[in-house]
Amino acid sequence: MPPIEKDTGKTELKSQIQQLIDSNQVMVFSKSYCPYCVKVKDLFKELNVEYNVVELDLIEDGTNYQEMLLEMTGQKSVPNVFINKSHVGGCDKTMQAHEDGSLKQLLSGDAEAYEYDLIVIGGGSGGLACSKEAAMLGKKVMVLDYVVPTPKGTTWGKMLPLPELNKAPATHEKYLTPYRCGRSGLGGTCVNVGCIPKKLMHQTAVLGTSMQDARKFGWEFSETVKHNWDTMKTAVNNYIGSLNWGYRVALRDKDVNYVNAYAEFIEPHKVKATNKRGKETFHTAAKFILATGERPRYLGIPGDKEYCITSDDLFSLPHSPGKTLVIGASYVALECGGFLAGLGLDVTVMVRSILLRGFDQEMANRAGEHMEEHGVKFLRKYVPVKVEELEAGTPGRLKVTAKSTESEEIFEGEYNTVLIAVGRDACTDKVGLDAIGVKVNPKNGKIPVNDEEQTNVPHVYAIGDILEGKWELTPVAIQAGKLLARRLYKGATLKCDYVNVPTTVFTPMEYGCCGLSEEKATELYGEENLEVYHSLFWPLEFTVPGRDNNRCYGKIICNKLDNIFTTMDVTKSSGGDIQQAGC
Ligand code: FAD
Ligand code: NDP
Repeated sequence: MPPIEKDTGKTELKSQIQQLIDSNQVMVFSKSYCPYCVKVKDLFKELNVEYNVVELDLIEDGTNYQEMLLEMTGQKSVPNVFINKSHVGGCDKTMQAHEDGSLKQLLSGDAEAYEYDLIVIGGGSGGLACSKEAAMLGKKVMVLDYVVPTPKGTTWGKMLPLPELNKAPATHEKYLTPYRCGRSGLGGTCVNVGCIPKKLMHQTAVLGTSMQDARKFGWEFSETVKHNWDTMKTAVNNYIGSLNWGYRVALRDKDVNYVNAYAEFIEPHKVKATNKRGKETFHTAAKFILATGERPRYLGIPGDKEYCITSDDLFSLPHSPGKTLVIGASYVALECGGFLAGLGLDVTVMVRSILLRGFDQEMANRAGEHMEEHGVKFLRKYVPVKVEELEAGTPGRLKVTAKSTESEEIFEGEYNTVLIAVGRDACTDKVGLDAIGVKVNPKNGKIPVNDEEQTNVPHVYAIGDILEGKWELTPVAIQAGKLLARRLYKGATLKCDYVNVPTTVFTPMEYGCCGLSEEKATELYGEENLEVYHSLFWPLEFTVPGRDNNRCYGKIICNKLDNIFTTMDVTKSSGGDIQQAGC
């Protein structure tokens, strides 16, 4: 029957190709007229290495060969090079392997000279995605992940004391398993001290508002509504524990060797790994991926490290922070300030210049106004000078002195907690990058890479928050990590697209955007070429409780030639009325 014949033919072709790969030290599938193939063949000649070549344009079923090679390697283009049974890739990959020394190693048949094909430094969003993908593609992979405690001593992935665990109801068993087996804190910033706890605490605040709305929808309840920090913190951290455990299991299932140790390069292909007991081990790999992320920056003023906390401490703070001063005015500051106020705490945000630098300022100010209307105080155009302890405690009392950025005025205030959220520093200074010559931007510690996430040292790659000029977002780190592994080990060519990445700021009134801010669009295209469609909205769920009428706002910034939208038909330039009266 035809399909069987077809299948039999395919199987035969596959085994023919496999035989060629297995029986030749160097096997090149080529086309006689292709300049890239010539380049690769010239390289082997230059290296005095014997190679076998099949010119696909000169044999009868060359097209079928090419289709089968695509199936076997994920690569359709030629040249398609194999050395000692390992798939190297095309011209670029072969040249790159020549540059980074791995070609020589493959040719010597000494691929085992390195312990691993790949060592990933950092087990956060990017590192985990990349290591799992590489392992699924058959590579021997190690992940080294280690959390350096904050100045306040906070770390994550700690074991809970056993008596606490034994008090827990049996229904919580699935959350508790990781603690009993020893938590590792695997998952990086997003899981432990970023997106996950932030979003859950934001949700806690949203529930507070929903409870107020609920009465208007007919719910009757008489208990005094108050929030218990400890219950929330424990529940959130238990969930994080289950995620840490899930990541650990996923790595084990995919045969990735995860070691909870701090990594530092000591030679181009060798790292030293130091675990929490100070035990050192040494590991080698053909390739490395840096995915070490960032940690919160301090102010460098008296009292900051002694008395203040950062987002790395907040989510596992053992007590409610009480009256809080948040210093900074970007994502982390406004999100944390927003949910703390939503829990009913007295919150002030100290702003040095503007809200949400880099974002559309009209939108940023609307998010700020909404926060102000819902109880957050803003102390604008001030920077802190010192923080002193008035009284120790949980929480204690702190005195903050700040100075105006516009005058000689001095501000003094008392708070229970000061949360510093003034940006994050790339963890690139203590990884031994200078020892192996990886270039780092000395101004911000970020790593410049080419469009394939490759550093200036060819066998060292970098992904995630440490990249220069790229988004610091979890899905971006994940996507870059997956695509990099596929390019390195599957012959894929797709690169990570860092343009037009959508993002959301979880201020109490959530703000999502994609593309250019109005300021940036004006700068790039000129005001005369832009049209901005905008409208205020009243979400249906806000109508019955009768709150925030005409406070939601959306706009679309586009070229004048673009089309008109259904509900956004008032342009800014027309000055038309954007109040919403009904549907
Ligand atoms: P990370 O996730 O930071 O992982 C790096 C890991 O490497 C860490 O575990 C670190 O301890 C470890 N490490 C560092 N040096 C070494 C070393 N030498 N040896 C071994 N291990 C090392 N992004 C979103 O998309 N949405 C959000 O809602 C969001 N909310 C956020 C909220 C907050 C409060 C913060 C701080 C960040 C938030 N982010 C959010 C950003 C997101 O968390 C990061 O973009 C993402 O975690 C970056 O991933 P990464 O792999 O680059 O690094
Ligand atoms: P940013 O670097 O974005 O912002 C730093 C803020 O601190 C700015 O408001 C800055 O003010 C202020 N600042 C800096 N230095 C001082 C100082 N000495 N005194 C007073 N204020 C100061 O940092 P974030 O930590 O907020 O965010 C880091 C990254 O994490 C973001 O870029 C984002 O990608 C990611 N993230 C994503 C989230 C999400 O997706 N929802 C949530 C949280 C973080 P100025 O404008 O004057 O410079």
